[in-house]
Amino acid sequence: MTMETKLKLEVVSPHGEVVSEDVDEVSAQGSEGDFGVFPGHVPFITTLKIGMLTYRKGSENKYVFVNSGYAEVSPDKVIVLADSAERSEDIDVERAKAAMQRAEERLKQAEKIDFARATAAVERATIRVQLGGKR
Ligand code: ATP
Repeated sequence: MTMETKLKLEVVSPHGEVVSEDVDEVSAQGSEGDFGVFPGHVPFITTLKIGMLTYRKGSENKYVFVNSGYAEVSPDKVIVLADSAERSEDIDVERAKAAMQRAEERLKQAEKIDFARATAAVERATIRVQLGGKR
């Protein structure tokens, strides 16, 4: 068996391909907890939280917002299928702040709102605002 030294990372959403790169390490937030992947990892599949994916290429760390979905890990590949995703440098922080404000207003109404939907919108916006400043 050959020892893998690189990982191919693919992050895809229905809106398009977000990442397609050879990387050294990937960290992400599974529904059951955070996990890290180096080349040669045993295969597994997990669903993902609304959260952050980090990958390292040499000494450089990169950050990606990931809106749910799932990750499929194999020894030489990590494939993430997300409902939406953006690289931190592509996040429009003002748009995320506006989305947060809308969702928070909705949550204040207390009645006749889809609570889970509004809460998820707040979560998406919160992480986008956090990641938007990272480069
Ligand atoms: P909004 O209410 O601002 O549309 P949302 O959380 O409902 O936010 P999504 O459904 O997650 O948006 O994403 C729809 C599309 O817009 C996706 O392609 C996503 O990558 C992009 N997108 C959403 N918010 C941002 C943002 N703040 N910066 C950059 N791209 C964004």
